Amino acid sequence: MAVEQTLSIIKPDGVQKNLIGEIYSRFEKAGLEIVAARMIHLTLDQAQGFYAVHKERPFYSDLVSYMMSGPVVVTALQGEDAILKHREIMGATNPADADPGTIRADFAASIEENVVHGSDGPDTAAVEIAFFFGDDGVCPRTR
Ligand code: ADP
Ligand code: MG
Repeated sequence: MAVEQTLSIIKPDGVQKNLIGEIYSRFEKAGLEIVAARMIHLTLDQAQGFYAVHKERPFYSDLVSYMMSGPVVVTALQGEDAILKHREIMGATNPADADPGTIRADFAASIEENVVHGSDGPDTAAVEIAFFFGDDGVCPRTR
């Protein structure tokens, strides 16, 4: 195990459902610490840029529209095994496949509108954290 950072987004449907506190409570109870946070309504450039890895996928334009449909809350979370831990708490992409008690099983409406994003590995986590927080936007805990 290693201390990692992961990029977490409460997507527009999660914000609309007023789940910000509920979701971050789950991450905090699992030992993850918020080390960066911002609320933002993504522009077209930002939504396309963030999901550029999916630009050849058939759902890309719907995904970009969905991510711009309302404000999102973006955080960087830190902790032991943060990337995998965050993905476990989030649940599978399709809520129909997500384990009971995961965020997506509990709150997601569909494979597209699935409430949360989490990085899928250390390399993407670093790129995604820099995308939203630059070089100096993360605040390591000092106490
Ligand atoms: P995850 O968010 O679990 O890492 P992916 O990276 O594969 O999943 O996909 C990014 C996002 O694109 C998903 O969270 C979901 O919002 C959307 N998405 C993925 N697959 C589909 C699909 N088959 N149809 C519609 N939207 C999808
Ligand atoms: Mg992904």
